[in-house]
Amino acid sequence: VIEMGTPEHSVVTTCAYCGVGCAFKAEMRGDELVRMVPWKDGKANRGHSCVKGRFAYGYASHKERILKPMIRERISDPWREVTWDEAIGHAAAELKRIQTKYGRDSVGGITSSRCTNEETFLVQKLVRAGFGNNNVDTCARVCHSPTGYGLSTTFGTSAGTQDFDSVEHTDVALIIGANPTDGHPVFASRLKKRLREGAKLIVVDPRRIDMVRSPHIVAEQHLPLKPGTNVAVLTALAHVIVTEGLADEAFVRERCDWDEYQDWAAFVSEPAHSPEAVSERCGVPAEAMRAAARLYATGGRAAIFYGLGVTEHSQGSTTVMAMANLAMATGNIGKLGVGVNPLRGQNNVQGSCDMGSFPHELSGYRHVSNDKVRGEFEQAWGVSLDNEPGLRINNMLDAAVEGTFKALYIQGEDILQSDPNTAHVSAGLAAMECVIVQDLFLNETANYAHVFLPGSTFLEKDGTFTNAERRIQPVRQVMAPKNGYADWEITQILSNALGYPMAYSHPSEIMDEIARLTPTFAGVSFKKLDEMGSVQWPCNEAAPEGTPVMHIDGFVRGKGKFVITEYVPTDEKTGPRFPLLLTTGRILSQYNVGAQTRRTANVVWHEEDRLEIHPHDAENRGVRDGDFVQLTSRTGSISLRAKVTDRVAPGVVYTTFHHPDTQANVVTTEFSDWATNCPEYKVTAVQVSPSNGP
Ligand code: SF4
Repeated sequence: VIEMGTPEHSVVTTCAYCGVGCAFKAEMRGDELVRMVPWKDGKANRGHSCVKGRFAYGYASHKERILKPMIRERISDPWREVTWDEAIGHAAAELKRIQTKYGRDSVGGITSSRCTNEETFLVQKLVRAGFGNNNVDTCARVCHSPTGYGLSTTFGTSAGTQDFDSVEHTDVALIIGANPTDGHPVFASRLKKRLREGAKLIVVDPRRIDMVRSPHIVAEQHLPLKPGTNVAVLTALAHVIVTEGLADEAFVRERCDWDEYQDWAAFVSEPAHSPEAVSERCGVPAEAMRAAARLYATGGRAAIFYGLGVTEHSQGSTTVMAMANLAMATGNIGKLGVGVNPLRGQNNVQGSCDMGSFPHELSGYRHVSNDKVRGEFEQAWGVSLDNEPGLRINNMLDAAVEGTFKALYIQGEDILQSDPNTAHVSAGLAAMECVIVQDLFLNETANYAHVFLPGSTFLEKDGTFTNAERRIQPVRQVMAPKNGYADWEITQILSNALGYPMAYSHPSEIMDEIARLTPTFAGVSFKKLDEMGSVQWPCNEAAPEGTPVMHIDGFVRGKGKFVITEYVPTDEKTGPRFPLLLTTGRILSQYNVGAQTRRTANVVWHEEDRLEIHPHDAENRGVRDGDFVQLTSRTGSISLRAKVTDRVAPGVVYTTFHHPDTQANVVTTEFSDWATNCPEYKVTAVQVSPSNGP
């Protein structure tokens, strides 16, 4: 049911769902939001939107939203509503008590990719300057941290290389580990338009996603690889490009480290990396890999678009570097229509990474051990900062189980539902003496919380989000915070109660501080955003209008770096007990763990999670379409309905993860990316058996 009415005024703001970053006019009648209208001047969406941004805002006034702070002594106690003063006072006293008893490093914080840049910046500042350690992490840990590692290593910066407009110049699109139709619908429309104009498409995905065959679009090649073999397939493509003389050596000589390229070229040329050698292991016909490689290298301007099917693997960072190798080897970088383009998940996952949410980096991806950079922050913040990286979220949970980590401040993130190996997350949370959750709803993580601080929605605050194309966009307050405070204000009040003073009167002042301390944001201000509508970083003296396409004249790191990407099979193995491989993804109508979309008054949002299973595998197990099945792995078991379909290959099953009662992360494993600990959500050995339902 969509409520409509005659609007009286409107406010332009930015969607808080995915990393496309569509701009909307929020139309109001008094204090009531009556309609979200896609804004025609939005640079990322040009008047388009998907159903989530347009209709799924009802959660802001959902009856389950918590508007009063609450505390309790033990997690078995009932919640007790208290004043903001009492809640913040209690949280600050507990944090101080715990640090006095267990040491400075026994506490930490988690930033949110749903919150604004300014709010994220403040949480990491609170941890570094207020807590006095670097124990800060972000939900990007569990999605795009390998993008940061891989693109920083090869190109020198942790971000996608192009703007969305660039796709209008693309001749060949290679989509790997992404399903843009469901995950990034407005960008998918732009890509589909280009494909209908004649651009060619290669899809590398275990599942036959919509874009493999949809109206007026047929992919030239679909490589339905076995989950976990991305690196082997990409190295096989590189083998074809190098051994068939398709590399752009002139580009490589000019722009990249030639010695490293030669080492890499010798590596990929080995017979063991040929399509024929890896075909059986990857489940992809050799000829399809050869055809895809030739098309990518010779079909004109070729762009790679990728998602979590790349990053959420034990070799996530390796896969990102393998894609960068391909782009550099073929000269597909530094101009329109090409590049390596992560399709970011959450609305501000790019921004939360940019703002220094990782335990080893200050804003702008500068390492905490860099004395000069750290000195600038120390002078601005009036404290001395730790020069050692802090704990990642998984390390915090491990330390909690071991008894050395005792308190966590979590802003806008449901780690119990969204992080892997739910049993381990709950054990870690249960072992802590003070868990402070700041959120809209009593989420699953709040079951382990001692303090609940009601959060604010994107409609209730000013700030900025940064989308997948590095575009910093305004978020503008549409209505007063129903809970009393925007999230940045809550962090500020908590910091003051802890004894580290903060005195911002508006988020624009936080952005001014970000700009002073972050060279890639040096030219960003609310005033500029008001004038330009949005701007893409780097935005500074060298690029006052921002930077739509990166690495045009040279890589940020100087010479592009080729990295040898050895394929290492995951430790997660199939066998007689668990013979199938589970991989996961999203549907259009739901968003991540569904906290917002499940609380919107429209039946389409309640579409359940189902397990896609190939007809052969279903028949072997006596499973029919719509039956309940038990999905069991080494770590856990859930019950959900089956959807029998040949979208997945035999041996592969697939589900979404939007509902707490069919929580796929009960079955996912503890394995993670070797470089960043991004969980390996996309490969889990499982068994499927008939079930009578939950
Ligand atoms: Fe929002 Fe993404 Fe949909 Fe745009 S495509 S309306 S940003 S969810």
